[in-house]
Amino acid sequence: MKESISEAADLIMKSEYLTALTGAGISVESGIPPFRGENGLWSKYDPGLFEISYFVSNPEESWELIKKLFYATFKNALPNAAHQVLAHLEQRGILKLLITQNIDGLHHSAGSRSVIEYHGSTRCLVCLHCNKKYERSEEKITQPLPRCECGGVLKPDIIFFGEEIPFQAIYGVQEAIENTDVMLVVGTTGEVFPASLIPVEAKRRGAKIIEVNTQPSSFTYDTTDVFLQGSATKLLLALEKEMEKF
Ligand code: ZN
Repeated sequence: MKESISEAADLIMKSEYLTALTGAGISVESGIPPFRGENGLWSKYDPGLFEISYFVSNPEESWELIKKLFYATFKNALPNAAHQVLAHLEQRGILKLLITQNIDGLHHSAGSRSVIEYHGSTRCLVCLHCNKKYERSEEKITQPLPRCECGGVLKPDIIFFGEEIPFQAIYGVQEAIENTDVMLVVGTTGEVFPASLIPVEAKRRGAKIIEVNTQPSSFTYDTTDVFLQGSATKLLLALEKEMEKF
């Protein structure tokens, strides 16, 4: 493991355009339950409740569930050391872009600014009628059914099942992949399409892939160059420390 950490640190410090892709695994240590897996949300709730068609036909029921599952948990969650290491890497000019599948906003709370939230974010609300966006506010989300000034129903600005990834996110990621020479993949096992294609496509274009996961994933054997197995906070802190040697 020590050797792999030094290999990963070497790749990062020599990179010209480092990008990162993060998933639920990075936020688990902030107390946010993942969607998948044994104790994931989908083992307790029907994912059908997060189909966009269900939201449109039952917005009040959907909002009640969203408040309970997301806002109540996210409100008290703090970024952990792994989020912070990624924010430091951006501040030092090493990490150029962070792509996250997470909707919890913790990368922003940690100070990351160059972020594409691939599945949207609970930090904002969007009007189903006129597309106007609002920052999330207590005043808005404590209403039984949050509404836009135009009267339209507001939806959390997250990608529901059955919704397309916004063009801007797709385009931004594609552009980043073309420039990426090293990609740091943290806490995502590659089960969610099309985000799962991001490391695969970067690899195909010649990038080196460093993977940090607690378990081997669909990337580990075919896509990953350096696999670091263990907790995201421990390993990213170890990586940061190793980089000090450069
Ligand atoms: Zn509106």
